[in-house]
Amino acid sequence: MTEDIYSYDVKCRTCRTKFKVQLFESHEKNLFLVDKKYWYCEKCKKEYFKKQTAELVEEHQAIGFADLEGSQKMVSWAVKIRGEMISKVDYLKKSLKFENDGAKALSDKAFEMFLREWQEKTDAKWWVDHRRMNVRDISKRVEEIKESV
Ligand SMILES: [Zn+2]
Repeated sequence: MTEDIYSYDVKCRTCRTKFKVQLFESHEKNLFLVDKKYWYCEKCKKEYFKKQTAELVEEHQAIGFADLEGSQKMVSWAVKIRGEMISKVDYLKKSLKFENDGAKALSDKAFEMFLREWQEKTDAKWWVDHRRMNVRDISKRVEEIKESV
């Protein structure tokens, strides 16, 4: 068998450029995919990720996060991770209940300090390395900060 057997012509949904893709399902299923799936050429894919990254960076800047350093690929991955991690913090913050205003103020302060620690992380690699940090890890660190206040 040659590779040609798996090659199919598809059209980029954005720029309508035709390009070839390799599909490895049954011929029938491949034809279905060629027809039904949204295909994007490499160029448009790159543009899309660049735009998506730029939008996230802007969003993060508004809440005090700086640009990240690293290769373009690494930065775009890191920014996406950072977005997910910030969502985890928001989720945790919203899920907490307080007995009184004082407890809430202390917690808010701890979250603020916690985010400040993250805002200092401008190396894209740091975010990629910490991508598995979950809500429990975040909660633990916030508690540590709270105790040190
Ligand atoms: Zn395209």
